Amino acid sequence: MTYAPEWDVIIVGGGPAGNKAAQEFAKKKMSVLVIDRKAQIGPPKRCGEGLSTRWIKLGGQEPHPRWALQEITSTMLIAPNGKKIKIDTSKTGQTGYIIERSQWEKMEAGRAIRLGAKYMLKALVTGVIKDGGRVTGVKVSREGNEEEYRCKLLIACDGVDSMVGRYAGLHTAMPLTECDSGYQYEMANVPIDDPKCMELYFGKDVAPRGYVWVFPKGKDVANVGIGIAGTDGETAKSYLDRWLEKHGDRFSKASVTEINAGVIPITKPVDEFVGDGIMLVGDSARMVNPIHGGGMGAALEAAAIAAKVGARAVKAGDTSKKALKPYHDKWNKVRGEEFARILRVRHFVEKLDDEQFNLFVDLVEQKKLDPRLFVELGHGRGLVDIAKILVKASPAAAKFAMSFIK
Ligand SMILES: Cc1cc2nc3c(=O)[nH]c(=O)nc-3n(C[C@H](O)[C@H](O)[C@H](O)COP(=O)(O)OP(=O)(O)OC[C@H]3O[C@@H](n4cnc5c(N)ncnc54)[C@H](O)[C@@H]3O)c2cc1C
Repeated sequence: MTYAPEWDVIIVGGGPAGNKAAQEFAKKKMSVLVIDRKAQIGPPKRCGEGLSTRWIKLGGQEPHPRWALQEITSTMLIAPNGKKIKIDTSKTGQTGYIIERSQWEKMEAGRAIRLGAKYMLKALVTGVIKDGGRVTGVKVSREGNEEEYRCKLLIACDGVDSMVGRYAGLHTAMPLTECDSGYQYEMANVPIDDPKCMELYFGKDVAPRGYVWVFPKGKDVANVGIGIAGTDGETAKSYLDRWLEKHGDRFSKASVTEINAGVIPITKPVDEFVGDGIMLVGDSARMVNPIHGGGMGAALEAAAIAAKVGARAVKAGDTSKKALKPYHDKWNKVRGEEFARILRVRHFVEKLDDEQFNLFVDLVEQKKLDPRLFVELGHGRGLVDIAKILVKASPAAAKFAMSFIK
């Protein structure tokens, strides 16, 4: 297949960020080329496939039966001592779905194509072209050929291992301490009590700095995964395997149908995600909720903001960094400030030892702590409320509260 040598917008990466950006730019009558190194949009996934309903509905979409496999209305937190707290998130309107991500991505790409975007697959972007310091295109390795494509604006949606931002001279390097390492089995024949409930297991020996998740994809299929500190001496896989062995009663008749692994950035976004002729969107800019590592929703939201600002800049014939900066500012306002608060909460949660975690669960059992405050923590709120409750609860809890307020 041949492609025109010049485009209004070239998007590198046909994941959640790239598909959404393609739709939004195409709606604004821009010529759009999406380039992806994979042979197929969608697989392999590197994802637990949890997506909040509010993100699905962004842009007026509804959950589709082909990919919205399992509605989720509650979350179960399992403390290191095995005690459980079930939080009904439907009461606060925080529902979601476990999706079939490969189907979803392909359908989203289809939507972009029907709006006018073109996709080029099995094409690796190996560099950017610059004229007078401004990005004006990409170098592509495709079918054994080295090709060049020009654009007025380049959108880097190339994920956590993004090179495109770096090729353009933006500082995207991330220390290992700021990464979590993720590993996951999709499994069949898993006994699931309540398919509408996500399970999260905590503990130093379970998942240092992270958690094990069981995300149901129906009656007896689940994503069983783990995220741990990327600097831990042991691999995420060995922690997960050990956990599965420990829960042999439950998993002995289950088996693996898919294996996924990947890096999860759990830090702040890159300092600058615009440059002359280029915008970074999604994981390439590290726009990930730093407490649970979910990044699909934030990628969709950022893509919509980027397209609004970017299309205006293309139409005005000025894609300078200054003209693109409103994207940076707007994103920081609608999501960046929240993520910064969440990062502070994360630093607090990291300090929890197993005994303190167990204490939380005891306080919930004693009805001294409302479990919905844990959901608030996921939005970067409620830290002070929790501290106040701890101070009142018991001398041990008060000491603990003071230690993290400091
Ligand atoms: C184990 C694990 C579990 C997760 N679970 C969840 C979850 O439950 N919910 C959630 O919201 N998030 C989750 N995430 C995070 C989520 O997967 C990412 O935030 C999301 O994929 C970001 O979307 P994106 O479009 O920015 O990047 P990606 O989805 O990574 O897409 C990048 C695309 O760019 C292409 N590409 C990269 N480089 C090039 C190149 N040089 N040339 C051409 N193409 C290129 C890739 O092939 C890919 O298609 C998880 C991550 C991991 C690792």
